[in-house]
Amino acid sequence: MIVVLKPNISKKQESAVLKEIRKLGYKPHIIRGVERIVIGAIGDERTHHTLETLAVWPQVESVMPVQKRFKLVSREWHPANSTIDVRGHQIGGKKFQVMAGPCSVENEKQLMTTARAVKAAGATILRGGAFKPRTSPYEFQGLGEKGLKLLDKARRETGLAIITELLAEEHIDLVAEYADIIQIGTRNAQNFQLLIGAAKTGKPILLKRGLAMRIEEWLLAGEYILAHENPNLMFCERGIRTFETYTRNTLDLSTIPIIKNESHCPMVIDPSQGCGRSDLVIALCKGAVAMGADALLVEVHPNPAEAWSDGAQQVTLGGFVKLMEEIKPIIAAVGRE
Ligand code: PEP
Ligand code: MN
Repeated sequence: MIVVLKPNISKKQESAVLKEIRKLGYKPHIIRGVERIVIGAIGDERTHHTLETLAVWPQVESVMPVQKRFKLVSREWHPANSTIDVRGHQIGGKKFQVMAGPCSVENEKQLMTTARAVKAAGATILRGGAFKPRTSPYEFQGLGEKGLKLLDKARRETGLAIITELLAEEHIDLVAEYADIIQIGTRNAQNFQLLIGAAKTGKPILLKRGLAMRIEEWLLAGEYILAHENPNLMFCERGIRTFETYTRNTLDLSTIPIIKNESHCPMVIDPSQGCGRSDLVIALCKGAVAMGADALLVEVHPNPAEAWSDGAQQVTLGGFVKLMEEIKPIIAAVGRE
């Protein structure tokens, strides 16, 4: 455990902490910094009493475990928020970012209409799947490279950056050639070879939470990206599988403060896969902004009733304008732009 003392405390207050650490069965190692004293307390936490109670002492600033299984993604390692530059847009900075677009790229008209509309409404990044992970092999699997080319066309015309999913290792170079952000989907969240390959492209990575993934497992999956020399990682909560049937998944908004606390990486919310219902998307977006998310990933379609995938959860172009209007005051209320 690491015990950080507050600045300018007296010798007596310091000794009292050291005495307590020894009393609880730990050996203190003192590091005297310019401003603060940090004490490394070594001992077996399974057999000794917890040091966490020291956190309430007036002279103690914080108490933290030394050994988290995830390291490079942790805030202990990198206390300041990380920001990721995507074609001049900062994700994780003061400006709240919105990524929007269809679930799947279907054709030029559908994509261009959506791209122009989401850009006009204030989105900075266009989403659209060209390789689609479908539950059934008989459902639309995506346009593949043709879809990537359409995304590129939309980028050139609108100036929007592109986020698109990487589904398989054999597509790494192809997807990296077109994507500004590589999306790793929920079904691949622990496909470690894919994560390593994606990391090595150097492109920003958006890592969705797996369908049944614990937060620590998700942080460790993210650790694979940073451990392979790619610092540009953002986490994206998209709902987990629970017993509930009113919604497609249960969007776990508690991950926002948890991830922001544990990690310096930006946090994105996908309300669309998160609930599977377009009528709930705006409310979830508002909640996400209020709780400190850095960005949204929202599915938008010109005609959701005829969408080739995820029709029930995509908002219309008009619905997206309403969404952007309704989150505005909340963005301002949390001190962002
Ligand atoms: C998607 O974004 O369309 C998608 C398939 O996401 P997920 O991996 O979260 O299901
Ligand atoms: Mn989708």
